[in-house]
Amino acid sequence: MKTENCIPDLLSFLDSSPTASAAVMHLASILDKNGFKRLEEGDSWNIGMNERFYTIRSSSSIVAGITGTEPCGTTGCRIIGAHTDFPGFRIKPQADRKKENTTVLGVELYGSPILATWFDRDLSLAGALAVRKDDTISRKPFIIRKPIFRMPSPAIHIEREINKKGFKVNYENNTPLLFSSSGAAFDDVLLLACRSAEVDRDSVSGWSMEVWDPQPAAIGGIYDDFIFSGRLDNLTMCHAAIEAILASKESSETRLVSLFNSEEVGSKTLNGAASAFLDSVIERLAGGRDEYFRCLAKSIQVSADGAHAVHPNYADKHDPGCRPVLNGGPVIKVNAAEKYTTSDVTSAYFRTCAQRSGVDIQYFVSRNDMPCGSTIGPITSTRTGIRSVDVGNPMLSMHSVREMAGKSDHACMIKVLTEHLSGSVSIRD
Ligand code: ZN
Repeated sequence: MKTENCIPDLLSFLDSSPTASAAVMHLASILDKNGFKRLEEGDSWNIGMNERFYTIRSSSSIVAGITGTEPCGTTGCRIIGAHTDFPGFRIKPQADRKKENTTVLGVELYGSPILATWFDRDLSLAGALAVRKDDTISRKPFIIRKPIFRMPSPAIHIEREINKKGFKVNYENNTPLLFSSSGAAFDDVLLLACRSAEVDRDSVSGWSMEVWDPQPAAIGGIYDDFIFSGRLDNLTMCHAAIEAILASKESSETRLVSLFNSEEVGSKTLNGAASAFLDSVIERLAGGRDEYFRCLAKSIQVSADGAHAVHPNYADKHDPGCRPVLNGGPVIKVNAAEKYTTSDVTSAYFRTCAQRSGVDIQYFVSRNDMPCGSTIGPITSTRTGIRSVDVGNPMLSMHSVREMAGKSDHACMIKVLTEHLSGSVSIRD
C-alpha cells in the first residue's frame, strides 16, 4: 500500500471494526494477502530467516512479524505496540426489562467513554456467539449495522439546567438502551445476531455483545483536513503499524507489530499487554532462553496510541509550551512519572526516524495540575525490559463515540514507523 492510499484503507478498516476481534480479523486478512502465514500458539513453530508470520491470541490480540536475516538474539527486534480495544458498552446478561411499556436492555460500561456522546446516536450491535456442536464450542462473530438501539437524552424541558450544569448521567438508571415498544425481548436481539452470524438459535450457548455506532467514518473540514470517526483511539495506530510492517525494508533485525486487547480496562487479561503474549512470541523466535534475554536487551519498541491535540476551545487545559496541533505531525509523549516510556535516547531515536523520513514531530506533556493518561508502553516495557518510546497522532474528543483527527498525520506516522522497523537508526547505551 502506498501511503497516499492509506486514508481510504483506514476508513474501511474503521467501518469494519466495531469490536477488537473484528479489527484483528480485518488486519489478519490484510496480512494473509501479503504472504504472512498464520501460526497457532498451540502448535510447534519452526520459523526461518526472513519469514512472514502472525499469531492471534483469544481472537482480539495479534502479533505479526517478519524475521530478520540474522537471529534475533544477535540483533534484537524492532517492535510497534498498540491496543485494539476502545471504550463503549457491553450488554449485561439477563438485561431486558419493560419500562413504561418500552423494552430496554441494560449495559455495562467498558473503559471510560464520554457518556454524553453516546446519547441520541443510532446505535447497533456487534460481537460473537458461542456455538455448541456436539460437545465442541466455537466462536461465530457477527456485525449488525441496522440502528436498533437508542439512549435518548432528557429533553431540555425536563432538565432545564443541562447546558449550564453539565450532562450528568447515572451509569445504571440512565443508560439502558430502548429497542422496542411492541413487546420484543432480548431473544429477538439474539435471533437477529444469529441471522447475522448464520447460526441456528438452538446451537447458541453463550455470547458477547458490544454496542457500537455504525455511522461510517468520514473525511471532514472544508479542505478535507480531518477524519471523523468512532474508535480512532486506537485503531488508527493499529492500522499505521500494519501498514508500516508491509512497507518496511528487509533487515537483519526482526520486525514485530503487537496489538493488544484490554488496554482500556487495565491490560490484565490473558491477551492484554500485561500478559506474556509478546514475550512468548519473542522467546519462540529466539529459540533459547539466553538468546531470548539477549534479544530483549537489544530490542526497541515504539508504543503508538492516540495523543491529545491542543483543543482550540479548551486551550487552557494544555501545557503552555507543548501544544500539538492536528496535521502538525506525530507526537512524542513525555511524562516524568513514567506514565509514558519515552526517555532521552528513545525520544531522540523516534525524532531521528522522523527526520530521516522527512516528517515533523510535536511533543506532548501534561499540565502539572492535570492527571496524565497512560498506554501499553510502560506495561510491556516493565515486563520485558525493552527500551521504548511513547508516541501517537494528535486527536480531539478522545473516548467520544465520534472522535476527530488530522488526515495528513496518518501517512506521516506510517512513514516514521516504517523507518523504525527498517532498522536504519540504532541506540547504543
Ligand atoms: Zn488509547
